[in-house]
Amino acid sequence: MILFHSTNKNSPDVNIKEAILRGQAPDRGLFMLNEIPQLNQEEIYAFRNLDLPEIAYSVLSKITKEIIPESELKKIINSALTFDIPVEKITDYNYVMYLDRGPTCSFKDIGARMLARMMEYFLNLEDRNVIIITATSGDTGGAVASAFYEMNRSNVVVLYPKKEISNLQRKQMTTLGKNVTAIGINGKFDDCQRFAKLAFADKELEHLNLSSANSINVGRLLPQILYYFWGYSRIIESLGEEIIFSVPSGNFGNLMGGLIAYNMGLPVKRFVVAVNENDEFPRFLETGIYQKVIPSKHCISNAMNVGHPSNFARLVDLYGGHIDEQGIMHKDPELDKIRGDMFGISIDDDWTRKTIKDFYEKYTKVIEPHGAVGWAALQFYRNKFPENAKIKAICSETADPAKFPEEIISLININPKIPRSLDAISKKDEVPNPVEVNKYEDFKSFLLKNF
Ligand SMILES: *Cc1c(COP(=O)(O)O)cnc(C)c1O
Repeated sequence: MILFHSTNKNSPDVNIKEAILRGQAPDRGLFMLNEIPQLNQEEIYAFRNLDLPEIAYSVLSKITKEIIPESELKKIINSALTFDIPVEKITDYNYVMYLDRGPTCSFKDIGARMLARMMEYFLNLEDRNVIIITATSGDTGGAVASAFYEMNRSNVVVLYPKKEISNLQRKQMTTLGKNVTAIGINGKFDDCQRFAKLAFADKELEHLNLSSANSINVGRLLPQILYYFWGYSRIIESLGEEIIFSVPSGNFGNLMGGLIAYNMGLPVKRFVVAVNENDEFPRFLETGIYQKVIPSKHCISNAMNVGHPSNFARLVDLYGGHIDEQGIMHKDPELDKIRGDMFGISIDDDWTRKTIKDFYEKYTKVIEPHGAVGWAALQFYRNKFPENAKIKAICSETADPAKFPEEIISLININPKIPRSLDAISKKDEVPNPVEVNKYEDFKSFLLKNF
């Protein structure tokens, strides 16, 4: 059985059930695999002939074995992964992998939908219910609400800042109803986060079984290993062929999925870690010194405006080091190894905008700001390492361009086509805001009255 330790090394090891139900380790570290299961090259090569759910099962069953039975894992995968992940050739050696085809058009759909279903399975085993509290600045809330919608054992309460999110983002949360309650608060995202944290620590709410579905939960992280095996299997020609991945990164959940895949045996030449102006990671690679970006910088790739990536603790752990939740390094990771496996580059907004324009002019395809950061980073890598020109590369596109219409229209004068799932949401009726929340006590009494 695969066990998980805390990156802070001060909590007992747990199995995947405990890791998912708890979210965070008691010592405030993140759960991380004690050992990484292996796939051999023939097995990986044979993925060329499998579909997405089959690959998902082959990969995830190595981690969930002895905890989630085969038939249950298959059920979870089949009900979570109901959409395609296209991998499209753009030039001879460069591909884009579209992770944005889920119900909320964000790559977070994949992790959130798998987490919701694994959690439901474990809650059924324990015969208990939870209330998932999520604070959102935009997209995460929609992905989590949609993923947990109609789950029997979870109620979802999303806190969002009324004045800081777009109409479409709000509607992704407020048009669901049933077990999803979306509360628009009179305040900022930071207030939403503060109220959620206060609720988790509040003894008078303990009986409600509050839980979280944020990106530090391993249940959201582990499914992201799949993209890498999937993308790889769509484009390679020979056994053991190495490829490059460019990963637009914020909290490094996506990147961690790739690094775990690599450690499971996936032949990766290098990861291009593409960040926006929040450049703590490229600076760390260069200097060996980790410094958070405070406050985080506001860029148009807004889901990546992270000055202290939560999953960095897992990355450091994977390379033999220890950094705590405050960002203090207690033991350095193997920097040379990290530098060999990863190439980091910061792309500013001007460069991102230019990339969206160039991409359209050259290929008549629309790419949105997050994907553009990944593409720009990959082009930079290509110029810097011409000797790798014939190694194939996949860049992730993590959101649909229709989520950023103003930016796209002003750059290339095209109004991006709204995908069907978003269009349907924009026409649905909203559940009125259930309560006015100005301070924590308003939120707390709402919870006590309604659950
Ligand atoms: C969350 C998000 C990212 C960043 O992913 P991490 O796993 O946090 O690095 C990139 N693009 C989009 C659209 C996102 O929503």
